[in-house]
Amino acid sequence: MHATAASAQAPIRRVVIAGGGTAGWMAAAALSRTLGKVLDVTLVESDEIGTIGVGEATIPTLMTFHRLLGIGEQAFMAQTQGTIKLGINFESWRDVGRDYFHSFGLTGTDHWTAGFQHFWMRGRERGLAGAYDDYCLELKAAMHGRFAHLPKRKLNYAYHLDASLYARFLRRFSEDNGARRVEGTIEDVLTDPATGFITGLQLGNGTRVDGDFFIDCTGFRALLIEKTLGVGFEDWSHWLFNDRAFAVPTATVRDAVPYTRSIAGDAGWQWRIPLQHRVGNGIVYSSRYIEDDQARDTLLSSIEGAPLREPFPVRFRPGQRERCWERNCVALGLSASFIEPLESTTIHLIQRGIIHLMQTFPRTLSQPDIDQYNMRMADELQHARDFVILHFKVTDRQDTPYWRDCRAMAIPDSLRHRIDLFRETGRVFHVPTELFAENSWIQVMMGQGIHPLQYHRSADLMGDTELKGFLDGISGDVERTLRQLPPHMDYVRSYAPAA
Ligand code: FAD
Repeated sequence: MHATAASAQAPIRRVVIAGGGTAGWMAAAALSRTLGKVLDVTLVESDEIGTIGVGEATIPTLMTFHRLLGIGEQAFMAQTQGTIKLGINFESWRDVGRDYFHSFGLTGTDHWTAGFQHFWMRGRERGLAGAYDDYCLELKAAMHGRFAHLPKRKLNYAYHLDASLYARFLRRFSEDNGARRVEGTIEDVLTDPATGFITGLQLGNGTRVDGDFFIDCTGFRALLIEKTLGVGFEDWSHWLFNDRAFAVPTATVRDAVPYTRSIAGDAGWQWRIPLQHRVGNGIVYSSRYIEDDQARDTLLSSIEGAPLREPFPVRFRPGQRERCWERNCVALGLSASFIEPLESTTIHLIQRGIIHLMQTFPRTLSQPDIDQYNMRMADELQHARDFVILHFKVTDRQDTPYWRDCRAMAIPDSLRHRIDLFRETGRVFHVPTELFAENSWIQVMMGQGIHPLQYHRSADLMGDTELKGFLDGISGDVERTLRQLPPHMDYVRSYAPAA
């Protein structure tokens, strides 16, 4: 059943958000702030069920979301125990003991015909260039544990945050903007038998919450989009083997570094996310290759600092909802899709879903709008998925069955093309609307061990002296700027100390 012709319907007024995790409260914050005058926004959440309790690393686009909503950075960081994230240090991903860094910055300066990597490759060939890392300020600042805000966003960054504090922060913000919160467990989702549209949520405590439009933020339960509307899920576990995790917070034993650590192991990887008040730790693994107890023990034996609670298990399935918008319901967050936690894409995808929804928000439903939304979300998700698969596929690791199978797996044609293009020409296939910029693709492809076979002819235009001057100019500027930056935690403590 498709959405009926616009003229036949009453305007949407009552929006009901099911679920109060990061997805639910981000949606409530955005809708109440921007469309609160014309919509009634109600969020239903269950204290008994709680939230998934992970999801603490972000990417720079969160800043855009906050800017759109008028959320101040200092208050946000102070209230979420936030720290700065300049990128991710990938440890033992290419091979055991070989690390590289994926930063949020730009490396070098591009020419309009060719990216910086071509000039760097020629410089390397002629013995004139340093390491690729020397030309990226964010990377050097991360490795030296330094940070400050610089004019014109010269240093690009994201945040680490405490997910439960972030949900609380957004709850206050949403309620201040008129959103209503209803506590209770959803026992039944009511539909109109004639149209199949959702009409209300029946809670266990007898309350009924009716609406015109519903946002499913119930996490992996997907109560509305799947259990009620029957929209299927496309499974990606043949590309992304990991399906379980254990998470455990630990006490802080040293100042937080301004980056996430991602440490590859025998059958998955571990994360370290340093906040102001504690460190988030976790192991992500494939149950096909390692037992739960073994994964838990591996995590506990490698963390620094005292655990603040028992490690808690999380199960997940990588993949995407066949349609994120069906009838009068949009799914956001884990009920819509999940790639795997590696590049911190979920909060970003929640934000993209919200922004697309706000940009289309209909007076009445129209099927072309719905189709357009579904196409855009599927496209963005596919690019991000390919980027994550890249880390597992392109590796020199052959030390365990997990890594041998990752190397041998078939990959999507879209990713195969990107890898082939970079390997043969040093150029990156990049879609302007996609999440990860060319710089990200280059750093990860080179970091995982792809060396282009040739560089662009433009790089031959410079003689050795000119090329050396060009390269040294960039690395010199990076070094000079780096020396002006204070230690990351000194800066955070004076800028946004947690209360
Ligand atoms: P949840 O947090 O699960 O919230 C679901 C909500 O629905 C809860 O409020 C719950 O009470 C409610 N609910 C469910 N059923 C009912 C019911 N019957 N009645 C009433 N309420 C109900 N993302 C990132 O961006 N960065 C990361 O670093 C990151 N790390 C991750 C690590 C792991 C191991 C995993 C699995 C995920 C990670 N993610 C990360 C994804 C992250 O979990 C999500 O971004 C985020 O938590 C959004 O979750 P959610 O709001 O969709 O679901």
